Amino acid sequence: MKSVNPYHVAIKQLERVGRILELDEWLIELLKKPKREIIVTIPVRMDDGSVRVFTGYRVHHNDARGPCKGGIRYHPNVTLDEVRALAMWMTWKTSVMDLPLGGGKGGIACDPKEMSISEIERLTRRYIYAIREFIGPYTDIPAPDVNTGPQHMAWIVDTYSIFAGYYEPAVVTGKPIELGGSPGRVEATGRGVIINLIEAIKRLNMNPRSVTVAIQGYGNVGYHAAKIASEWGLKVVAVSDSKGGIYNPGGLNPEAVMEHKQKTGSVLGFSQAKNITNEELLELDVDVLVPAAIEGVINEENANKINAKIIVEGANGPTTPEADEVLIEKGVMVVPDIIANAGGVIVSYFEWIQSLTRERWSLSQVREGLKQRLLKTFDEVYKLSREKEVSMRDAAYIIAIERVVRAIKLRGIWP
Ligand code: NAD
Repeated sequence: MKSVNPYHVAIKQLERVGRILELDEWLIELLKKPKREIIVTIPVRMDDGSVRVFTGYRVHHNDARGPCKGGIRYHPNVTLDEVRALAMWMTWKTSVMDLPLGGGKGGIACDPKEMSISEIERLTRRYIYAIREFIGPYTDIPAPDVNTGPQHMAWIVDTYSIFAGYYEPAVVTGKPIELGGSPGRVEATGRGVIINLIEAIKRLNMNPRSVTVAIQGYGNVGYHAAKIASEWGLKVVAVSDSKGGIYNPGGLNPEAVMEHKQKTGSVLGFSQAKNITNEELLELDVDVLVPAAIEGVINEENANKINAKIIVEGANGPTTPEADEVLIEKGVMVVPDIIANAGGVIVSYFEWIQSLTRERWSLSQVREGLKQRLLKTFDEVYKLSREKEVSMRDAAYIIAIERVVRAIKLRGIWP
């Protein structure tokens, strides 16, 4: 697969909508660039006594509408450009969802699969030590992303609190419940993906009982999306992870697949399905495709071979602008990442409120709030895309960018 620079993709998308909105050149220039970028060198003592040196990033794209918000990713391919793109997409996501937050993102280039849990803990704590002056409940609130989860967030709360001199749970979201995490946060992104998927099939007058779904990626987003889809009567016929995928046209049992993955380290080899490649999964004859792994997987090389009628972007940036054009031409409905996977940041926002106020919400309160916000935004974006005859991605970006621009103009340029 040709490698795609996600930051170039993010800039192209911004420029395109900037032209539709006839934005002043200086605004596009300002929004292309992050407000602030932090690059840190992280020495870590490994279990065998040696020291390895890692590079970590935290990018604040924009905070015109509120503190920066975005996850922290641990992956060998993490680069500054990837983090920049992910931070920009967070600005649009919080804006289109009308959350009082901005956009940020972080990452460390590392391979956590080759590290022990205590090495990962030391890496996490030293990274947070290095960026501690740039994060905080009113400046930048990190969260989990690829290869990070509640335990990492717990170490972040602890490390940040040690330096603050008091306990500060509102510095991150996606924490364990015992440390002020929110009920419903772990499943939130996957649940949101399926809420969006159901809205999309309703708009196309498809019958949910006969809809088939293929999901790429079987981590937090992919697994919960698969589980909730099947609980709601949709047929999940294929799933995959970084090693490959599995396919059963009769439908898969997502929990049984997860048990198999936990035992063997991959979905591959699941007894009630045949093995397929990730490329084959994307091109299956299914109604809905949910890319829920990494960026750039639907690109100019395979866009023509996509058979799904609907793509719901669980991952951030899975479709390149070149592929978008092909998909529009083919009449494929693409529910863009900034609304499709916004469930995570919505419940992160609920968690942040709970942490700031030291209050607890119930699971049903969280799920109801999540559903309402997602349905409202889906409807706004869908209607605008119809009205302006643009894709749902362009419609979502129009709403998001207009809100950010309005905030910048109202606040003014100082001095
Ligand atoms: P995760 O680490 O829990 O899972 C990632 C999954 O993708 C794993 O199953 C992994 O094996 C698979 N994968 C990795 N590389 C792959 C490849 N080349 N081909 C196929 N599969 C591959 O991560 P996650 O939290 O589920 O995040 C997945 C995507 O969703 C990312 O793009 C992330 O930015 C986005 N996202 C996550 C959240 C969240 O709340 N976790 C919220 C919004 C968006």
